[in-house]
Amino acid sequence: MSMADNSAPTEVQLRAALPTEIEARVKSARTVAGRAVVVAEAGDLSAKAREELEADISEALGAVEGVGEVRVALMADRVKRQMIAIGSGKGGVGKSTLTTNLAVALAKMGRKVGVIDADIYGPSQPRLLANESDRPTAEDEQLIPIESPHGVKFLSMGSLVNPGKALAWRGPMAGSALGQLVEARWEDTDLLLIDMPPGTGDVQLSMMQKHKPDGALLVSTPQDIALLDAARAGQLFEQGNIPIIGLVENMAGYACPHCGEVSDPFGQGGVEKFAKSLEIPFLGRIPLSLEIRVKSDAGDPPALVDNDDAAAFTAIAEQLHGWLQAKTG
Ligand code: ADP
Repeated sequence: MSMADNSAPTEVQLRAALPTEIEARVKSARTVAGRAVVVAEAGDLSAKAREELEADISEALGAVEGVGEVRVALMADRVKRQMIAIGSGKGGVGKSTLTTNLAVALAKMGRKVGVIDADIYGPSQPRLLANESDRPTAEDEQLIPIESPHGVKFLSMGSLVNPGKALAWRGPMAGSALGQLVEARWEDTDLLLIDMPPGTGDVQLSMMQKHKPDGALLVSTPQDIALLDAARAGQLFEQGNIPIIGLVENMAGYACPHCGEVSDPFGQGGVEKFAKSLEIPFLGRIPLSLEIRVKSDAGDPPALVDNDDAAAFTAIAEQLHGWLQAKTG
């Protein structure tokens, strides 16, 4: 044994150099060739708190004599990741658009957000999140999410199967595809938004029974028929004991691109009243706006910049953020 090994700090010495609350998280600490190697429990911490923990350990042990370098490995296999299903009664009501913009707005608030595009009838997240070229890769049979330029990672059912084929998926196939996406290597992602297929099919059942999202958010346009469908989708979640966070009204009123005046071809206040009658919180309205459609189609989510359209999305994202934080306690 060399002199260096004899003078290397022991586990007891390394632990003693750490503040008590940090030391309590340490699973193991040893010195190998002048390098302190620490494994710490961090599964319950937010991404920011994990960074702080790592920095604190590095700083404290870096000051110990005989330690040239500090390596910290955080055990994050118990990352408390929250999951929200975003559903609607029928297609074309703007559920995917809302999902993307909530994801972007929540990422701006500091959450590490991932989006799962489970809408087998019209996977649109690759376009909305401006990365249609990358295909997910896998490592050790685990999918690696795709990065978007907007700070949100995503995976789409559409990339697991040739376009057009997904429609034929039923029961177990759709369920296992969903499982691969949920159990992908999301790493420090602490919030997953799931863009659900419309209606009440196999993917919904698999979502509720196997993956148990923390809550569901419903989207509807103001027309009565869309609302009734949304209510049915909501009932399904309720039966599965998934809390309904609230109802969002999309394409509410029409914002004139010339003068900015908002008119209400379908009347105003109907969705809010409807939500009230079902005892579902009403989370707000997103106007029908040409800019929302044009920017969304171009992979430039309106919630990225600060204007009226963004404010409508941000206001809903803030409520969702509050709900998620209350749930974490
Ligand atoms: P869904 O996911 O419910 O099928 P999408 O999000 O794909 O619906 O939206 C359907 C179409 O409506 C898209 O072309 C989208 O750009 C457009 N759209 C969604 N919300 C709005 C809005 N508030 N104003 C204008 N166009 C919208």
